[in-house]
Amino acid sequence: EHSRIDELQRLSAIGQISAGIAHEIRNPLTAVKGFLQLIQREYDSRYWDIINSELEQAISTVQNLLVVSKPELNDESSAELNLCQLLESTLSLFDNELYRVNIEKRFYDTNSLIYGKRNQLKRALFNLLKNAFEAIEGEGSITVEHYRSDDHICLHIRDTGKGIPGDKLPLLGTPFFSTKADIGTGLGLSQVYNTFYGHNATIAVNSEEGQGTEFTIRIPLSEQSMEERMHTNLIIEKNMN
Ligand code: ADP
Ligand code: MG
Repeated sequence: EHSRIDELQRLSAIGQISAGIAHEIRNPLTAVKGFLQLIQREYDSRYWDIINSELEQAISTVQNLLVVSKPELNDESSAELNLCQLLESTLSLFDNELYRVNIEKRFYDTNSLIYGKRNQLKRALFNLLKNAFEAIEGEGSITVEHYRSDDHICLHIRDTGKGIPGDKLPLLGTPFFSTKADIGTGLGLSQVYNTFYGHNATIAVNSEEGQGTEFTIRIPLSEQSMEERMHTNLIIEKNMN
């Protein structure tokens, strides 16, 4: 009989082992990425996009493992950054999927900044987008929305994929929960939740089986952007008088 304690012990053992492996694999992969960037400047090739995208997926997988098992290895300093630009560069890693999935970008506010950890956030966006692409069997579309609402940036990532059954929704973000038999690690969303909660954001999921899924993220503006906004509001009010 398998009790819940057995299961937790098993997961914890898997976590420890995979953290060790992930750490050993991450360093060489990161080194390869650096050298590839150097070579890219010298040699033009139509294969670079594929190489970069595949490498990014591998790095992302080991990073996801590290986040759940050894979060302290992921410390990174925060800075003001533009989530919109981060989205653009992350989306470009999926260019090889555009033959089957249509991407609609609705970026209403491209100037506002948030305060956060660039690499972590980029990986979180990558993990969300990867799930969206994987949910779409054959052709479909992904809509990405980015706008400002009060003191927040709102981000919507919506796909026309297969959706998530209602009874599975509470399991989202639990490490190792995956419905993808062979290719899933079940670590993507736990990285996503950890990252956004670490940035004082809220995450909401809306999904309907056979219809698609929408992730909505609300993340606070950086202090500077908040002040600028107040300033703009004051000017607008002044002009109206
Ligand atoms: P993995 O992708 O390795 O399975 P994740 O943590 O990224 O692990 O996702 C966990 C599970 O959540 C997936 O296996 C899938 O069942 C479900 N899921 C996440 N995002 C979506 C989505 N956009 N559409 C449908 N199902 C999703
Ligand atoms: Mg995933």
